[in-house]
Amino acid sequence: MADQFKVCSTCRRPLEFGANYYQCSVSTCQRAKTALFFCSVECWDAHLPMMRHREAWAEAVRAPTREEWALQQDEAARAAASVEVRTVNDGNETKAGGDEATREVLIVVSKLKNYIKAKSGMNTSDAIVPVLSDLVRELCDRAIESARADGRKTVLDRDVKPIS
Ligand SMILES: [Zn+2]
Ligand SMILES: [Zn+2]
Repeated sequence: MADQFKVCSTCRRPLEFGANYYQCSVSTCQRAKTALFFCSVECWDAHLPMMRHREAWAEAVRAPTREEWALQQDEAARAAASVEVRTVNDGNETKAGGDEATREVLIVVSKLKNYIKAKSGMNTSDAIVPVLSDLVRELCDRAIESARADGRKTVLDRDVKPIS
C-alpha cells in the first residue's frame, strides 16, 4: 500500500493521508484517471497557464485516512473529496456532529486570498476559512428565519442582514 495519498501535481511533494490538499474546481481537473492534486493554492495557481480555464478556483479537500482510502479504492475519486472542517465554535458544536452541511467550506479560498492580497498586499492564513464559513452559515441561518417568518420558501437578498 502507498505511503502517501498522492503527490502534488505541481511540486511532487507527498500529500499525506488525512491531511488537507487542494483540488481544482474545474471538472476536467478532477476526472478519476487524470485528476490533479495540489499541496497549496500556489501549486494550484501554477497549473492555470497550462489549462487555460475560463473560471476556476482551488477547493480545500481533506485526503482520506489510510483506512478510508483502502475502502474507497473502487469508488470514484470524487467520493474521496469530501470537505471536512471541524468547527471549534461552541455554538455549532452540537450541530457539527453528523451533518456535512454544517462543516463544509463555503468560501472560495483562492478568490478570498486574491482579494486580501490585492486590497492589502497581505497573505491569508488557511485558518480563517472555517471561521468565515461559520459566519456565512450564521448569516444564512438568520436569512432562513427571516424568510420563514414571512411565510416564503425562497430566501431573498433582503433576508440577508449584517450581523450586528
Ligand atoms: Zn505542491
Ligand atoms: Zn484546473
